[in-house]
Amino acid sequence: MHSPLRNFLPRNNFSELLTALSDGGYRCLAPKVCDGAIVYKELPSQDTLSTGISIHQAPGSYRVEITDSARNFGWSNGPQGLKPLVFKSRETLWSVRRDTNGQMTFTESAAEPDPVAIIGVRSCDLAALALQDKHFLNNHNRDSHYQTRRASLFLVAVNCTHPSDTCFCASTGDGPTAQDGFDLLLDELDDGFVIRAGTEAGEKILETLPVDPVAPEQAEAISRQNQRARECQTRRLPSRNLEQALFENLEHPRWRTVAQRCLSCANCTSVCPTCFCYSEQDTGTLDFTRSEHVREWDSCFTQGHSYIHGLTIRADTKLRYRQWLTHKLGSWHSQYGRSGCVGCGRCISWCPVGIDITEEVTAIVSAET
Ligand code: SF4
Ligand code: SF4
Repeated sequence: MHSPLRNFLPRNNFSELLTALSDGGYRCLAPKVCDGAIVYKELPSQDTLSTGISIHQAPGSYRVEITDSARNFGWSNGPQGLKPLVFKSRETLWSVRRDTNGQMTFTESAAEPDPVAIIGVRSCDLAALALQDKHFLNNHNRDSHYQTRRASLFLVAVNCTHPSDTCFCASTGDGPTAQDGFDLLLDELDDGFVIRAGTEAGEKILETLPVDPVAPEQAEAISRQNQRARECQTRRLPSRNLEQALFENLEHPRWRTVAQRCLSCANCTSVCPTCFCYSEQDTGTLDFTRSEHVREWDSCFTQGHSYIHGLTIRADTKLRYRQWLTHKLGSWHSQYGRSGCVGCGRCISWCPVGIDITEEVTAIVSAET
């Protein structure tokens, strides 16, 4: 459901949106600069959004600058997508206690509903969330922790006007403008926001806001900036479906070359908004009376991730990088009906040695060796 009407919310009235969300029972998380990067942080009531943030990203590089722009969203993305908000990096699934008679009591840990509005979500991250939904909310195996947190989200998306050098969402079909998956969608102009609803919950909030009709010149300005955001992206994947091409090139020499640079550090999978691998372990007390069963993010780049029955199947970095890329860009198609990459570019910026997924896959599927 998309609101047929688009409305203009003057910048001076943006706080009314925050108030309406707060009155609707949502905690607001908004982009803030923290430790040199943009992250979602709780926005205390009466606080305002950050202005003038500009981000420069390149392979192995991420730099924040503060400019005198009045805009709140003139940047691309931070290391954190929506993933940590729904799929926690570490959480207890259940715990067990043993009493003095040796009787064991198991307790399941449930996630608590926590209505939260995320301000400034980008189209790549909406696409990534839809992919995570396919994984965690499929009919065979619904993850209750994920489901509770997912149902608590209210998503205020913003169309990207300043993609970074590392972004390539236009080539994956996931941006820079959002098509669906949001409750409210903003297009930022210098003097305010064109706003529309994507859900009934969004419509309810929108109805309470002091909005004006959208002027034709505002609609044109939005169309121009969206077009510019699309055209300024220079990186791209060679094709949206690389499954066959990758599996035909399992012995390509480029796997060895990239493995000589790759540190197997797993930064790329940590920042990737679609990666969902995890490991589970039990941590017990020294007196054997309590233990917790914990789930935490894992990665196809760690040695333990492919350890099965006394054997590490992917013992070296070449096999681990190949596993990541052939799954992400290849067998996701068979598994989830599309590639696992939404073109956010995070794995390029946050790779300490600047490995660029678009460059590597282009080299691997090209005819030349
Ligand atoms: S593979 Fe890289 S560019 Fe693609 S979604 Fe993951 S982090 Fe983003
Ligand atoms: S590709 Fe880069 S970020 Fe990913 S494991 Fe290798 S060195 Fe780390």
